[in-house]
Amino acid sequence: MDERIVIVGAGQAGGELAAGLRKQGYAGRVVLLGDEPHPPYQRPPLSKGFLLGKAALTDLYLKPLATYERFDIELRLGTRVEAIDRSTCELALQDGSRLSYDKLVLATGGRARRLRLPGLESATLDNLFSVRSIADIEAMRAKFVAGNRLVLIGGGYVGLEVAAVAVQLGLRVTLLEAAPRLLARVTGPEVSSFVEQLHRERGVEFRLACEVQGLELDEARRQVRGVRVVRDGVPEQIDADLVLVGIGLVPNTELASGAGLAVDDGIVVDEYACTADPAILAIGDCANQPSAITGGRIRLESVPNAIEHARVAAATLMGKREPYAAIPWFWSDQYGLKLQMVGLSAGYDQCVTRGSAGGKEFSAFYLKDKRLLAADVVGRPAEFMAAKRLVASRAEVDVTRMGDAAVPLASLVA
Ligand code: FAD
Repeated sequence: MDERIVIVGAGQAGGELAAGLRKQGYAGRVVLLGDEPHPPYQRPPLSKGFLLGKAALTDLYLKPLATYERFDIELRLGTRVEAIDRSTCELALQDGSRLSYDKLVLATGGRARRLRLPGLESATLDNLFSVRSIADIEAMRAKFVAGNRLVLIGGGYVGLEVAAVAVQLGLRVTLLEAAPRLLARVTGPEVSSFVEQLHRERGVEFRLACEVQGLELDEARRQVRGVRVVRDGVPEQIDADLVLVGIGLVPNTELASGAGLAVDDGIVVDEYACTADPAILAIGDCANQPSAITGGRIRLESVPNAIEHARVAAATLMGKREPYAAIPWFWSDQYGLKLQMVGLSAGYDQCVTRGSAGGKEFSAFYLKDKRLLAADVVGRPAEFMAAKRLVASRAEVDVTRMGDAAVPLASLVA
């Protein structure tokens, strides 16, 4: 009988892996199980062109449905996996059936972190949203109309992208952030203020360093009417027609932990995407892997990571040993501007910037001991590519000329 690889999670990583196995010549059975009704799709447009109405549903699909048939990938949508039985190498599916595997890959992604506020647990609110799936966008679309007041809780990339779309659609937007600056977890203060200015100029209002204390509900407890916050000890209520919560992602690790696999902010895997069970791998947003850059462990949430992790897993499943070694990178689109980030800036001792916050081009370089750890680049794609190479090379650079935008980055290698 054919060997069977079962992939749980038909998202970016799962979809890439299924196709990658066929491209590498895997001849056994490939079963791709997903609990959403859609074939694997790109999530980035959810908070960009899809919400704006400029991308159609089928534009999001990674591959047309016919491709799965052509690749002989058994794609089973609307199929939720409830448990893994490692002793029999079987999965328990939500419909009560069981499915056996020879190799299992968990590509379960994550879910939007929920707002935890007293009294909220019992309420089902029609105008409180998060952004993770096509269904989330479809649920909120009718509220994205000019004049509506949107309160966004959380100033990360996804929240900021939604703010940009909302402004373009004519909504009035207030963004609440607990930290004293935007994107505090992922970038330096220079980029935070660039992004803040970008949004302020287009009318987004901010409440930074503010604590959300509660939601004001209507009598039927179906609608949020406002968000109660406190800033500098001063209480305020911000009226809302809709509220969007963007406070991060919780990795879907329950299948792994239920099966006794190690979980520590993600399913623990090695550099080949393997868990401690030789028959089980984990990839993408749900996996926590060793980082060749920091020497520690890391869980990444990005498309490039999902693609690279799927490539590593395909190699492992084909009997090759190709460790994950890619430098993390990410992008975000706001108001037609492309923000690109590469590397990990943690521990930098110097930040050099180019361009101006007022202009549409801006770069921030994070260095340690004159070596480029990371860069945030706005509107300069060629410079981003050069920064990517510099981060990967770990070469020492001439920092004195780095602030001059006219000097090509590549020429700075000492
Ligand atoms: P996912 O794509 O989340 O797929 C996991 C799938 O598994 C889901 O369909 C889930 O429902 C399913 N699943 C979970 N549990 C089960 C189960 N028990 N049984 C069956 N199925 C299950 N990244 C970038 O690089 N750039 C961007 O600009 C960017 N923008 C983004 C904007 C938004 C709004 C969002 C939500 C994400 C964005 N990302 C971006 C992140 C990127 O989309 C993710 O990192 C990527 O989708 C991760 O892929 P994944 O396959 O690991 O997880």
